[in-house]
Amino acid sequence: MKTIGYAAESATSPLKPMEFDCRSLRHDDVAIEILYSGVCHSDLHTVKNDWGWTIYPNVPGHEIVGRVIEVGSAVHQYKVGDHVAVGCMVDSCQSCHHCHDGEEQFCVEGFTQTYNSPDRHTQDITKGGYAKHIVVRQEFVLSVPQSLDLAKTAPLLCAGITTYSPLRSWNVGPGSKVAVIGMGGLGHMAVKLAVAMGAHVTVVSRSHSKKDDALNLGADAFLISQDNDSMEKAAGQFDLIVDTVPVKHDVTPYIPLLKVDGTLTLVGQVGPLAEINSVPMILGRRRIAGSIIGGIAETQEMLDFCARMQVMPEVEMIKMQDINQAFERLERSDVHYRFVVGMQASDF
Ligand code: NAP
Ligand code: ZN
Repeated sequence: MKTIGYAAESATSPLKPMEFDCRSLRHDDVAIEILYSGVCHSDLHTVKNDWGWTIYPNVPGHEIVGRVIEVGSAVHQYKVGDHVAVGCMVDSCQSCHHCHDGEEQFCVEGFTQTYNSPDRHTQDITKGGYAKHIVVRQEFVLSVPQSLDLAKTAPLLCAGITTYSPLRSWNVGPGSKVAVIGMGGLGHMAVKLAVAMGAHVTVVSRSHSKKDDALNLGADAFLISQDNDSMEKAAGQFDLIVDTVPVKHDVTPYIPLLKVDGTLTLVGQVGPLAEINSVPMILGRRRIAGSIIGGIAETQEMLDFCARMQVMPEVEMIKMQDINQAFERLERSDVHYRFVVGMQASDF
């Protein structure tokens, strides 16, 4: 099937329309017409080759909501017309112990990313959600609960699960004290999800500018990371800190905010951090950890949780042809709080 998407041809070229082939349906495949696609900072990192592993031309997008248009002969869970979603993974070995445990993100062979990964059968490079269509094996397709707004569901597929998973891994619930560093796409979802789980939530941001929004989203407190007095007063308070900062940074000032045995989990910067001082970790038996997206079963659990608790992202709707301006704004943290592309035939 021929389709069309927005592709970057190099680290410096703007995204523009490109035709490409979706693979022919395998027996276990679902063909999806994409209706909405969220814009994650990882898309921007990939297009700019920040991580050094981008293959061009690159069609990003891993927060996908669409409608089933065809299914393979072995697909029984989905039928034409269903609303479905796809996140950051489209395949894995399905046989290692991590895949069996529903944690495909740790597949011993490495999971196949929704874009920028070789297909496990053809070696063709996967292409993501900034397109009209995608074909995905059924195990990596999610059901969208009926009560969810389709456009607002898109950001849940990455920003939602990437923050839900560490909150669940570290058993956040009533009585937990959680801090979220960086209130962007991931950060604002971390706030909403932790609030919905019953936690006391503090946003740690670079300036005052997002304070009102943070409190409106349900946060209980707001800290400015540059304000040393307030940071000192907040020492020893938190069970868990979710760090969503997308660039190399120094985590040392945040570690004293943790209680004894508290954990700071990195979900933002993928790559080197600034040199870390061990003293606040040693003095408080504190930990620095990391977390990557979440498994398919946990992603479905998160979608169902969001439907039940009415947790939805704050979105700014854009057209596909405005993606380059959206990337510029995302780079400046000027988005409230996730761009979602509404796909229209006229965009291509
Ligand atoms: P985003 O919308 O740009 O949000 C990042 C936030 O971090 C900004 O809103 C800003 O918050 C803060 N920030 C930005 N630049 C900063 C700087 N130079 N110093 C300190 N703080 C800064 O990005 P996102 O889509 O949430 O993604 C965040 C990161 O997570 C990206 O690096 C992305 O690649 C990564 N990611 C990881 C996973 C995973 O599985 N681990 C999954 C998805 C994304 P304030 O204005 O409040 O300070
Ligand atoms: Zn993402």
